[in-house]
Amino acid sequence: MRRRVVCLGLLFLTTPSLFGWGREGHRLIAQIAAQHLNAKARAEVHKLLAGGTLESIASWADEVRPQRRETSTWHFIDIPLDIPRGDWKPYCPKTGCVLAMIPEMESRLRNRNLAQRDRAEALKFLVHLVSDMHQPLHVGEKHDRGGNDVRVLFFSKASNLHSTWDSGILDRAESQNAGLKAALGRKAGFFERRRLAKGTVEDWAWQSRDVARDVVYGLLPEGRPASLGDQYFTKAVPATELQLRRAGVRLGRVLNETLGQ
Ligand SMILES: [Zn+2]
Repeated sequence: MRRRVVCLGLLFLTTPSLFGWGREGHRLIAQIAAQHLNAKARAEVHKLLAGGTLESIASWADEVRPQRRETSTWHFIDIPLDIPRGDWKPYCPKTGCVLAMIPEMESRLRNRNLAQRDRAEALKFLVHLVSDMHQPLHVGEKHDRGGNDVRVLFFSKASNLHSTWDSGILDRAESQNAGLKAALGRKAGFFERRRLAKGTVEDWAWQSRDVARDVVYGLLPEGRPASLGDQYFTKAVPATELQLRRAGVRLGRVLNETLGQ
């Protein structure tokens, strides 16, 4: 999603980049997660969403942002690329950030004294925020509004770095390989699941920051607009795919831990 919208005119002009990973990325992550839910978590999701699916609500948090201005900082955290892993709290504003809101939504979702409507909303935020956190530019950045200010030519088409990582890379990869999204949305096998689901929410954020440092910016050519072609794309595709798989498997784990026990 476009993280900080400066004015409504800009919002209007850049609507396609509003939706985080892009709607497709969020949908894929939710699709992967849904296949990993245990029976109890699946029943809880079904009840809280009144029969709706995780996929159907995966982009809801982006859609309500214009009406819910207080939620706008929840989708990301700006961690510098060059600091060691450790304390992220200095980078989390008082209005909240993705690393503060994920545990908050987990605890609301666990709290069965809350109204069903509030727990349903917590579920929608949780699904979206775990997903957003795996878009590297929602965690790491270089004082450029998460890459929104970095002009690029992605295969000669004018764009910005954030939007390229939200959807440009995935869309182009899909256009070259029609089965890609179906393959990306598949259920993980035992070993992949065990490997990807390890760690804590904080570990996952630092890992996402490292992908921003090593791939998103690390391989970015000098010069603006940065000219991104095959050389960048061939490295960006596997990084994107891995972040989507990680997000899906981990979201499944988070939901099982909050709703399936
Ligand atoms: Zn978002």
